[in-house]
Amino acid sequence: MSAESDAGAICKSCGACCDGSLHPRVGITLKEREGARKSGLRVVQGEPFFELPCSKLVDKACSIYDDRPGRCRLFVCNLIATHEREGLPLEESLEKVRRFRELGAQLRARGVDPRSTEPLKFEGMEGFEVISLLHEYTERLERDFERASPLFTDEEPKEAYTVPEGELPAA
Ligand code: SF4
Ligand code: SF4
Repeated sequence: MSAESDAGAICKSCGACCDGSLHPRVGITLKEREGARKSGLRVVQGEPFFELPCSKLVDKACSIYDDRPGRCRLFVCNLIATHEREGLPLEESLEKVRRFRELGAQLRARGVDPRSTEPLKFEGMEGFEVISLLHEYTERLERDFERASPLFTDEEPKEAYTVPEGELPAA
């Protein structure tokens, strides 16, 4: 399987950059705002972004792929960047996604939003387990997903984009 189709397979098992796991919102330009609103994205009135989880994410894939905003087109997470740079086996990257999603599901099953900054209200062994899960979740989030993702905020990009258009996987 080629590196490009590997990226597609990895993203189809993931969806983390669109479901709010990585970022709470996606920046859009003024020009994109009306089109984004018409596409059904949750554009905040008067603000240069739309909110995540994305309303157009269906079964971990973008349902407006051809019309997605510029930042969606340009985004590459660290997991995909590392996979392609190092030529990793597909299974290794799929396992990273699988474990990250599993950790998120385990936390949510305990009533914990992994991105919340609220203090935890667990004690004893349960508290220890939740902290361990959160620790691994955060570690994986920062290492596997976030480092190559400064483009998904509402700030102006700080560096030139280098990913060729047309070579990005569906989210
Ligand atoms: S770009 Fe990264 S975070 Fe987004 S769906 Fe693909 S693997 Fe997941
Ligand atoms: S790639 Fe598609 S599903 Fe993901 S945030 Fe952008 S518009 Fe939403």
